[in-house]
Amino acid sequence: MVTGTSAYKNSAGKSDWAREQLLSAYQDWTDAEVLEIAASGMIGGESERSAGRGRYSSKGISSSDVFELRRGSGEPYQNHKIVTGRNLNPKGEPNTSVDLYNKDGVLTQRRYYGSDGRAQLDIDYDHSNADGTHTFPHRHEWDWTQKKPRQ
Ligand SMILES: [Zn+2]
Repeated sequence: MVTGTSAYKNSAGKSDWAREQLLSAYQDWTDAEVLEIAASGMIGGESERSAGRGRYSSKGISSSDVFELRRGSGEPYQNHKIVTGRNLNPKGEPNTSVDLYNKDGVLTQRRYYGSDGRAQLDIDYDHSNADGTHTFPHRHEWDWTQKKPRQ
């Protein structure tokens, strides 16, 4: 079972209650349930929906599909941690997601680690935006073939 992953103890009160409920509900779902819902088109980004090759209706659903689905919809992995600090490590525990809160208790970033433990995707919820060009949340893919892997 999943233990210690539902620690959405958010004292800052910035996030809205319903969303918290939804997220903690997610924590209790099995991957099979998530896939079922995803297959019915309730969650998942355009890429999942428009893939349209019957991937998720076939029997052979791999765990990497589950990870891809959760990443696509921005939901945490089943193995999920919460840390407080200024930034996250580019490498972490394989197939985990981590939420980063700043010292004021504000969620600033969610990072997903791939099966090799390298960061794969960031969702930025808050960071400096002096010129007002950013909208939140937004995503940064990681490409480890690049000199600066975070795109
Ligand atoms: Zn950013």
